[in-house]
Amino acid sequence: MLRSEVAEGSELGRAVSELLSNGQFVSDELVNRIVVRKLQQPDYAGGCLLDGYPRTVQQAEYLEAFLASAGKPHAHVVHLDVPNEVILARLTSRLHCPNCKQIFNMSAETLGWTSECSECGSILERRSDDREDVILSRLRTYHELTGPILALYTGENYHRIDGTLSPDDVFHAIQQRLGPCLNGLPAPY
Ligand SMILES: [Zn+2]
Repeated sequence: MLRSEVAEGSELGRAVSELLSNGQFVSDELVNRIVVRKLQQPDYAGGCLLDGYPRTVQQAEYLEAFLASAGKPHAHVVHLDVPNEVILARLTSRLHCPNCKQIFNMSAETLGWTSECSECGSILERRSDDREDVILSRLRTYHELTGPILALYTGENYHRIDGTLSPDDVFHAIQQRLGPCLNGLPAPY
């Protein structure tokens, strides 16, 4: 949403672009305004999936206040719950192809014993922000800023999914929980 706002060159987009090019943080207020502006467009009238928002309690409260004022139903929250140790193990064993940008997990069967990209044969690399200290610092920020949001969503609209399962099992678990809430929306969801 931020990127499309920048691309459109709107007033909000120009403000975001200036912050980003100075390496600055985009404030809750600006992010809130952009998300709400999008949600008011007809494309989103049937609902949408927000990934990475809300990220703070302030953002979550703003979103709920907007939904209430617009006469829309409360948001459903899908919480992919993964312990820190598992996240750390997954990210530190992650390699990417500098050429075709595919991401591989060293423990995945597809990679086998080589460290070559199965798509294009390039030598795989580790991303610089997949280092343990960087990951731990990102996790701390997540638990401090985003963790408290979960206290706001304790009712039937909160869906905790065991994120340690395989991607297929996670997908089916989400489908099972959200399916009944999404009646009337076009498949596949
Ligand atoms: Zn490749």
